[in-house]
Formats: sequence, structure tokens, C-alpha cells
Amino acid sequence: MALEMRDRCERCSIRLAPDGEAFICSFECTFCRWCTAELSQTCPNCSGELVPRPRRVETDGQERE
Ligand SMILES: [Zn+2]
Ligand SMILES: [Zn+2]
Repeated sequence: MALEMRDRCERCSIRLAPDGEAFICSFECTFCRWCTAELSQTCPNCSGELVPRPRRVETDGQERE
């Protein structure tokens, strides 16, 4: 099952770019970097640790700088 890519912070609803910075918990609650900082890297929904979300890579094999 593919990771669902949510495009908004659950807390402040700011738009999150697919290749931008975002943080998720193990249940895929998604937050922006600012909320994550305010929440001390702890998910308010499940008390899980928020970690940087892997960026979706949609390239033809070439890495971006
Ligand atoms: Zn936010
Ligand atoms: Zn959570």
C-alpha cells in the first residue's frame, strides 16, 4: 500500500508541497514544520513521534540538487 500523501497540515491547514518539508507520525498524521516544532515532535492525535516525511520522488532517475 502506498503512503498517502496529504497535502495539508492537520493542525493549521497550511499547504504542504509534495516535495516540500513535512512531518508525519506512524499513523500518517501530517503536520508542517512549524506545528511540529510547536508540538515538540509529538503527534497530538496519537502521541506518536513526528518524523520528517520522505519526499515523493518523481524524476526520470536524475537527482535534483
Ligand atoms: Zn501546521
Ligand atoms: Zn498521529
